[in-house]
Formats: sequence, C-alpha cells, structure tokens
Amino acid sequence: MPDINLTQSEMAKAYDPAGVEDKWYQFWMDKGYFKPKIDPQKKPFTIIMPPPNVTGELHVGHALTATLEDIMIRWHRMQGDPALWIPGVDHSGIAAQVVVERTLAKEKTTRYQLGREKFDIRMKEWAAKARASITNQHKKLGVSCDWSREAYTLDPGPSLAVRTTFYRLYQKGLIYRGERITNWCPRCATVLSDLEVEHKDESGHLWYFRYPLENGQGYITVATTRPETMLGDTAVAVNPQDDRYTGWVGKKLILPLLNRTIFIVADEAIDPAFGTGAVKVTPAHDPVDFEIGQRHQLDRINILNNDATLNDNAGPYKGLDRFEARKKIVEDLQNLDLLEKIVDYSHSVGHCQRCQTIIEPLASKQWFVKMEPLAKPAIAAVKDGRIKIIPDRFDKVYLNWMENIRDWCISRQLWWGHRIPVWYCQDCGETIVSIEDPVACRCGSKKIEQDKDVLDTWFSSGLWPHCTLGWPHQTEDLKYFYPTSVMETGYDIIFHWVARMIMMGLENMGDVPFHTVYLHGLVRDEKGEKMSKVKGNVLNPLDAIKEYGTDALRFALSTGTSPGNDMKMAASRLEASRNFANKLWNASRFVIKSLEGSQVDLSLPAHLPVEDRWIISRLNRTVLSSIQLMEDFQFGEAQRQIYDFLWSEFCDWYIEIAKIRLKDEKTVSPLPVLVHTLETSLRLLHPFMPFITEELWQILKKKMPDSCQPESIMIAAYPVGNEKAVDPQAEHIIESVIEIIHTIRNTRAEHRVESNKWIEAHLYAGDLAEALKDYCPTIQSLSQARPLELKNTRHQGQSDNNDLVMVLKDCEIVIPLASMVDMEAEKARLQKELEEIKTNVERLEVRLNDPAFTGKAPPAVVQKERDRLAAGKDKMDRLQQQLVRFN
Ligand SMILES: [Zn+2]
Ligand SMILES: [Zn+2]
Repeated sequence: MPDINLTQSEMAKAYDPAGVEDKWYQFWMDKGYFKPKIDPQKKPFTIIMPPPNVTGELHVGHALTATLEDIMIRWHRMQGDPALWIPGVDHSGIAAQVVVERTLAKEKTTRYQLGREKFDIRMKEWAAKARASITNQHKKLGVSCDWSREAYTLDPGPSLAVRTTFYRLYQKGLIYRGERITNWCPRCATVLSDLEVEHKDESGHLWYFRYPLENGQGYITVATTRPETMLGDTAVAVNPQDDRYTGWVGKKLILPLLNRTIFIVADEAIDPAFGTGAVKVTPAHDPVDFEIGQRHQLDRINILNNDATLNDNAGPYKGLDRFEARKKIVEDLQNLDLLEKIVDYSHSVGHCQRCQTIIEPLASKQWFVKMEPLAKPAIAAVKDGRIKIIPDRFDKVYLNWMENIRDWCISRQLWWGHRIPVWYCQDCGETIVSIEDPVACRCGSKKIEQDKDVLDTWFSSGLWPHCTLGWPHQTEDLKYFYPTSVMETGYDIIFHWVARMIMMGLENMGDVPFHTVYLHGLVRDEKGEKMSKVKGNVLNPLDAIKEYGTDALRFALSTGTSPGNDMKMAASRLEASRNFANKLWNASRFVIKSLEGSQVDLSLPAHLPVEDRWIISRLNRTVLSSIQLMEDFQFGEAQRQIYDFLWSEFCDWYIEIAKIRLKDEKTVSPLPVLVHTLETSLRLLHPFMPFITEELWQILKKKMPDSCQPESIMIAAYPVGNEKAVDPQAEHIIESVIEIIHTIRNTRAEHRVESNKWIEAHLYAGDLAEALKDYCPTIQSLSQARPLELKNTRHQGQSDNNDLVMVLKDCEIVIPLASMVDMEAEKARLQKELEEIKTNVERLEVRLNDPAFTGKAPPAVVQKERDRLAAGKDKMDRLQQQLVRFN
C-alpha cells in the first residue's frame, strides 16, 4: 500500500468540505477507480451520461443528473459490477450557435461578415472553453465517470457514426429530400424541427377580407390571422358540404392589391365553423394549405426572404418586414373597402425555442427521415418490456407520440454541426451520398459541391449510446457494454432524445440502447417556480458547493426526488443537508476518539446487550430496505431512511447510551458495535455522500490496525443486509426505553423544568418490567429522573390531582407535579396569568357589546376581536383547570 497521508492525525471539530473534496477526487482518479475492467464472467452496469450542451455553465438540473447517476454507478461498483459511466459533451448545434452569434452582435459583426471558416474557429474556441468548464464542474460534483472514454459529438468517432447512419438510412430509402412546409426562424435563418418550436397562446386578431368575384357580381369573405400572407394566396377553399357556397366552386376571384386571378376550390380539410367557412389558401406558407395545394395543383408562391422581409413576389410590399407589411396591407384593404371587420382572436403562435422569434411556416427543400418504419420497432420495445420507463406513466406519453410521429426534418441552415454528407455534381446533377468525402462524380466531373446545411443536433445525440462505445467499429466496449443499463435524464427531452436513441439504437445495433429509462423531474425554486436567469432564482451548483459542500448539495438534490416529479429546492434544504454532514462528522469523531488508547477487541462478540442487538437489527433493516428501494429506483426514499437511521437512532440514541456505558468499566464495551455500525453506515451512505464518507472511513481505518479493508471506501463492498440480525424483541425493548425517555423529556419541557433538575418518576411496566430493569440507569440518566421506581404492575384508575399520568404503548409513567415545580410559585404564576387574561377578556367583551364599535368598524376587524375573545376565554378555562390541581 502506498504511503498516503491524506488524513489528518487530529480530527477537526467541524467538517470542512473544501479541505477534503479535491484531495479525494484526485486520489480516486490517480488510482484509476473510475475505469472498469472488462470481465466476461460478470454483468456490467453501464450509464451513458446525457451530454450537456457546450453553451456554458452547468445548472442545477445537470447537478441532479450527475448526482443520481453517480449514486447508481458507485453503488454498482461497490457491488463488484464492472461499472462504466461515459461522460460527454454535445456540440448542441443551434443552441451554441445562437450564443456565439450574440457575442458577435456585441462586437457589431455577424457570422456572414465573418465567413464560414472564421466563424467555425470562433465556435471551436467557445466550445473548448465551455468543455473545460463543464469537466471541471463535473469533477467538483464528485462524479466517478471514466474520463478516459470522454466523448464529444464532433469527435471523429461520433462523426463517422453520423455519416454511416445517414448513408445507410439513405440507401434504405429512409432519408429523403423534399419540399415541405417547415418551421423557419428568421433570426436564426434556419428551419427547426417541430420539437424546437414553442407554442404560446397569444391574443391577436382575425381579419375578415373581401375577395371580389372576377365577374363583378359580389365577393367572398375570408378570415386570416396573418394578413400579409394573402400576397401568396393561390386559391380560396370551402368545404364541399357547405351549403352557403353551393355553386361557388370553380369561380374566379381577383386577389386584391396584386390583382392576380385565383379560383375557389372545394376541400374536405376546410372547417366550415372557422371564420366564414371560406379560407384563403397560401400553399407556400401554411402546412394545411400546402397539402390543399398539392391536391389541387396550386402554385406555391413564396413571398418571404430568409429574414422575414417580403421578396419580389410581394409586388409593392417588397422589402418591408412581415409585420410592417401586415399593417400596410390592412390599411390598404380598408381604403379599398375590402376590410369587413376585425375581431379579437386568441391563438397559438410558434416561437423559436432558442431565440424566441416568431417562426414562419415556409415551404422549402429539406432533408427528412421517414419515421414510421423506425418508430414501429421502438414502440414494440417499450410495449414488450425490453425497455422499462420509470415512472411508468410516461409509457403512454412515449407511445402516443411515437404512434403519431411525423417525418423528421434533419437539415439545418446553420454552420455549426455535422455537415450533411451529400454532394451535388455541377455537371450532371447527380446527388452523391457518401461516408468518405468523394473526389469526383460518377460522370468523372470533379465539380462537386457539398450540401451547405448541417444536421439537426439530435441526429448525432440519437446515436449516443452506441457511438460512444465505438460503433460503427465492432469494439470490445461495444460488445461488452451494449445494451447499456440505465438512461437517466429529464422527462422534458423524452421525445427530443430518448425516443430517437431507441429508434436509432434498434436500427443500427438491432438491439435496444438501454434496458431502463429513468426520468427525473425539474428542479424548481422554493416557491415551485422554474429557475431562470431572468427571474434571478437560479441556484448555481458551484456556489452551493462553496457554501455547503458537495455532499450537502448532492444530498439536498437527491433526498426529495422521486422519479418523474419536479422538486423544490430551498436554502433550508441545503442547510439541513450540511447539518446532517456535521452530525455524522461529530458522531464519527466521538467513536474515533473513544478508540484512542483502547485495547478492546473490535470483533463483534457472540453475546450482546439488548441495545447492541437493537442497533444492529435496525442497521440491517435499514440496509435491506434501502437496497430494495435503490433497486426500485427510489433513491430519495433510500437516502431518507439512511438519514433517519443515522440521525434518529444511531446518533441520538445509541451513541448516547454508549456514552453511559463507556464511563462504566464493569459493563461490556460498546466499542465493537459503535465501530461496526459506523463503518457499515459509511459504506451504505458512500454513493450519496462520497467525500465525507471517504474521509471518515479513512480515519476510522487507521484506528483499526487489523482490518484488511481495501484502500478506498469506493472500492469496498457495499453492505449486504442480514435478515437473521433483525431482532424484533430487542427492537421492542429499546423502542419502549426511547418512548419513556421521550415522554419524560417532553413533560419536563412542557413544565419548563430546568435541565439540571432531577424529577421523580414511577414506571408501571407490567410484563415489560423485567426487560426494562437493566435500562433504569439509562432512563434515569437520559431523562434526569431520580428516583425512578419500576413496578411490574400496570397503573389503573384515578390518580392524585397532583400527579401527572402518561399512558404509553406498553406502560404508564406517573410523575408527581411537586417533583417538577415549586407548587406555591407555580400557583402564584398561574393566578397572575389568569388575572391578566381576565382583564383582557372583560375589555374585549365591553368593546364587542358597544354598537358604536360593532356597527362602524369593518367586519374583518370586528371578527378579529371576536376571535381574540374566544381565544382568551379558552385560555381562561385551561388556566382554571390547571389551578384546580393546586387547591
Ligand atoms: Zn431562432
Ligand atoms: Zn456528375
């Protein structure tokens, strides 16, 4: 064993996370503990970390992800499973590009001015910085992932996986290029997938326009929420069943302002209840109209430039911004008396998820993935249980989306990302799809140009579980670790990411990418509101670590969580977690100090006193129960039970009882049980609080010279519960002792007995008396009760007025009032209090009987006084009852 002197010889009075965390993290890394050994005899446990975006700092959601995954990985590693956790980062296409473009805007330049190459350098610089910061933050969180396998979506491996997948799907006819209505962000100048559009209800208007018939015999009225699109109208459509328009279909109309001729067509897609039942058709700017256009061979007239200004097709409105054009067109139609009316109308408006600009539906040529054939096996995998989603209510959400899936638009007019592996021959027009960059076309021409677009960032993240393990190469990692065990991520990206990984994994590997999907909720602020920079309620993980320590942050994040549910995070939770770390520190310090100079053999003796059997029984129950909970992915509850055991049983009771025993030379030493319970608990708690447990475990180990434990807690065996150690009889006795002490302490507190004053108590324990005999000194000492009389009968009937009788589960406690309080002084105090209350009650009664008050004061004020009167009378009654005892 190397000579490491990482633990101080003298234990500090309080736990100091800063002095502990970095040194152990470095130690673990130096030892190579994070890297699993491939062992064909063992089943591996694998998690691929959801790659954070290279957009900057990790937020508290990432900290939750890191904590939950680290808990699982450390737990499995301690169980002896080859545990692999691959960290990674996502280049995050549009999200990252938007961030850098904002910086450029501050420098008064744009990506277009910079040019593609220089812009790419800026992006890479930004990404490198962000990656370094993300790695550093992850290390601070104590994540035990295998840094030697760290992956990045733009690395050669994942890039090859992207091209290979594109190539194969294209060959199978599952990737195609087509003209469709897509969501266009004028600010980002790219199309977006449906999932990247946020729909918000906005109050707008419905404008009713008149389109005159060409024959001059009247007009038809249409309603629209986007007046400017009328410039691109190529028809007006009505429902064929709509009686109002019988005989109108086929008639010619004059499109106002541009004076183009358009026709009235009949189409089933038209809802007669909307507006007038007659709808303008703009095939280039609306998905429904696009389809109507296809059915009726209508022209598609695009009226917009990429920045949402109007183009040549807009005639006199050319060059105007879409919203200026809207105003102008409404005005012009009004002047022509073609505006019938404007009504208020609330409707859903799509916004760019990244920059919040209103998106514009636009017909354009894009690359798509045909989803239905990919979705089918992915639906089956969840239905037949090969993939389990936790919590299972998300099954329905997943299946519903998958069963209604639409083709996925994967091309983006961005510069940052995987360039689409398609080349066009300038001479023969051939489209070349290739994994390697081609040098020439089949026709021999070298004039080939690569598609300018890049792929949606989710295309590469969809390959994450298999490409990080080496695919398309058949690596050892891929053979051993695929399918992975758990995909732990936020429920908000179940479609963006989880669904696509399942489809792509099944397509490329012929097997599911993971067996379990664990979805965690969002971390909200203490009021339950979403954290955002704008609101200023963001909890920065690094700040929390600085103030409370990593273990406290991890503990606070994961104790309250149950799968799929949002959690509230408040400073009080962090404080409570820090207090727990300190409580554990102090308890351990006591045990370790007690070991100093002791010659006691630390192996557990065969025969143990009842309280030893009790704490060992409770320890084993806690181990058994928390492991079961962890197997059910209930980490928050597992943690809560460990916390309760350590705090409320081990620290508050066992250690207190042990202190009494340590002072008494004649009794059996509690040291073996203290050490056994503490050492086991530290291992039990390690996955949740890795740093403090390692520090304490190392100090404890030094005091146990005979132990042949491994050199770190993180590779020590995880505790295994022993059902045979569960001892209901011992639990019953000690729980009774605790209940008795609790009750006496509470009674003392109620009567404000000073802490150093001894009081008299009689314990009527019946059958339990024999077992409690040994605990009289403990009860006496921990409740300051002496004399303490133990009786083997039960207390029945009435008691003296001056005695307090407390009825417990299996016994009664009688405490003479005179032993707690000075009767005369107490009587005087109660009388004085009664006088005061009486005066107050009388004053209130006078006031409430005065019509001048009740008639004039606001009802709320009168009610308040009435409530005060009722409370006063109630208090008076209680004081009078108490006083009876003293008479
Ligand atoms: Zn945008
Ligand atoms: Zn060619």
